Amino acid sequence: MSQTHFRTCNLCEAMCGVKMTVDSGKVTRIEGDRHDPFSRGHICPKAPALADLHDDPDRLRKPLRKSGDGWTEVEWDEALDEAARRLLAVQTQHGRHAVGAYIGNPTVHNLPALVAGPELLRGLRTKHRFSATSVDQLPHMVVAHAMFGHQLFMPVPDIDRCDYMVMLGANPLVSNGSIMTAPDFRKRFRAITERGETVVIDPRRTETAKDASRHLFIRPGTDAYFLFALVREVLHQGADLGRLESVIDGAEKLGPLAEPFTAERAERATGIAASEVEAIAGKLLHHKRAVIYGRMGVCTQRFGGLNAWLLVVINALTRHLDEPGGAMFARPAIPALDLTGPGHFGRWRSSVRDLPEFGGELPVSALAEEIEAGAIRAMVTVSGNPVLSTPNGAAVDRALSKLDFMVSVDPYLNETTRNADLILPPCSPLERPHYDLVFHALAIRNTAKYSPPLFETDAPHDGQILSGLLRRLLQGRHGRLDPRTLKARAMEAMPVERLVDLGLRFGPYGKGALGVKPAKLGNKQLGPKGPLSLDVLKDHPHGVDLGPLQPAFPDHAPRPRIDLAPVVFVQDVERLDHADRASDNGATSNGQMTLIGRRQLRNNNSWMHNAPSLMRGRERCTLLMHPDDAERLGIKSGAQAEVTSRIGNVTAQVAVSDEMMPGVVSLPHGFGHHRKGTRLGVAEANSGVSVNDLTDPAAVDELTGNAVLNGVPVEVAPA
Ligand code: SF4
Repeated sequence: MSQTHFRTCNLCEAMCGVKMTVDSGKVTRIEGDRHDPFSRGHICPKAPALADLHDDPDRLRKPLRKSGDGWTEVEWDEALDEAARRLLAVQTQHGRHAVGAYIGNPTVHNLPALVAGPELLRGLRTKHRFSATSVDQLPHMVVAHAMFGHQLFMPVPDIDRCDYMVMLGANPLVSNGSIMTAPDFRKRFRAITERGETVVIDPRRTETAKDASRHLFIRPGTDAYFLFALVREVLHQGADLGRLESVIDGAEKLGPLAEPFTAERAERATGIAASEVEAIAGKLLHHKRAVIYGRMGVCTQRFGGLNAWLLVVINALTRHLDEPGGAMFARPAIPALDLTGPGHFGRWRSSVRDLPEFGGELPVSALAEEIEAGAIRAMVTVSGNPVLSTPNGAAVDRALSKLDFMVSVDPYLNETTRNADLILPPCSPLERPHYDLVFHALAIRNTAKYSPPLFETDAPHDGQILSGLLRRLLQGRHGRLDPRTLKARAMEAMPVERLVDLGLRFGPYGKGALGVKPAKLGNKQLGPKGPLSLDVLKDHPHGVDLGPLQPAFPDHAPRPRIDLAPVVFVQDVERLDHADRASDNGATSNGQMTLIGRRQLRNNNSWMHNAPSLMRGRERCTLLMHPDDAERLGIKSGAQAEVTSRIGNVTAQVAVSDEMMPGVVSLPHGFGHHRKGTRLGVAEANSGVSVNDLTDPAAVDELTGNAVLNGVPVEVAPA
């Protein structure tokens, strides 16, 4: 007899509610949960792939040990003992920093890994920690730390109440929102377009841009000139800090900083007419509920830090920061800020290139060179595939192959884990409990939802693997009865649900807090009847609605005042001021172009390409190119083109499209599954090429250390 199970899709930030039908221990149907108060029935094509993932014959079920050219299955205790012993041996011989760690993006969607991962990293005591953060949102975190006092206190656009939205470097119609957890973004975005106006600024007329009121092309990597011109124009038209005026410091520094960045200068750099800058500034000031938002595309530029800072500055100067319909802050049921410290910046630097740490992590662009220099001798990777997802993946691959030891916690034998000596595969996502610790903190509405495991299993989840490894490391280092070992043993034994319950009870909607009025969505009463706890969430399998975003300042922010001009950003302005004098910022003749990445609805970074339901259909790993460029280079749609950067070259099928800005080409990221020695049958058959065989680890935002993935200079020629 079939059963129905409700849970949250853990694949991306959108937190969609799914309804799963299970028959004889098999998922037979996955659809949107219409009663989920947040996602309201929406899912994207990736949700059904949760079943593919669970059933995938390539997904590893037991630990693997490398033996000669092959792999041998080993028992869990044996694998964990060996991993701890060999990591300790490297640290004993070469020092504690000789072990590095790389944490991949799926970890953020994984409750047990989020709880146990930081403990393991602390236990490793290494300064060589890396993650996907520095190929993604690092600039936003540096801004949150410097302006608001906590790295995770990031503003999100209040899109359900906004009437005018300007968006740069984001394509939420396919990414499903990022630092803006917003299920069914399409419907929400169309509603803004209908009741007001939406403007998308991007070197490609993206899927989101096609749904917007207006689209403006911008030359890759020049957003900071546009944003600074917008700041200048807002100041000239009459900036208004609104309610936050009494808590904002540093606003007076902005005028002199912005003055050199005129709209005409922005036009020369970006290609956006000066009149557009003036008009957008006027509309941001005029609309009562408006917001400017930028995401991955603005972070992965050489001025990613300045871009992220200027976005907040513009929202503040137009009185849209911390106001309904503007850029607001979520108040999650389990306070995410307690998960990490407030952050720190530049306490230590990488040994080869002197790049700064942030929040305990070094920029991943430094990973390969640190290994090659002998500063890292062993690695732990968790749910990450840096060979495909970080700059110069081929160099990362070579470096990993030279390590003395590598252990990977990962369900797949992929392009990165093939370099490991041991692979420790966790159970499937459907076999572990789920609560989104991070994305409720970045959501456009306050909600809470708990998903119990759908299937029972003997296989450990990521948290059990990571805490088992930590306990063995501490035992090997300090002895069985040391208090640190005993604490790790206690953590290992504690069910992760217990921590969720404690987090809810001591959170803002828990017992002892002032509580919340049951919230309404339409006419339907969806709020909890009492203070939140795990039991309350278990009684609400579709989730509970805790209402729209509320102002955070001054009482609900990490610190009561906002620094609008932190010194680290002010000092970086000079670099921007010099850069456009030294660069023409655009395409030149012949085959010289600039390369940008792109998201696709059926992709999930680098790790869902083994799901058959997502890989059907025509070739997706194509090089998008404007018709004028294709004609000039003598390349037809469907033909092969060779793309060469300072780092390497790839050959990809061309798709000619006027959605591209002339002089700019685009490749999706996450492909490149042609490397030998993996166990990814479906992905290998749809291998594509890796954009990170072209991106350059030498190109980073000098302020934050974030990788530059957009605006890569390339030469394109017929293959
Ligand atoms: S949008 Fe994200 S959370 Fe929603 S179904 Fe798709 S992958 Fe899952």
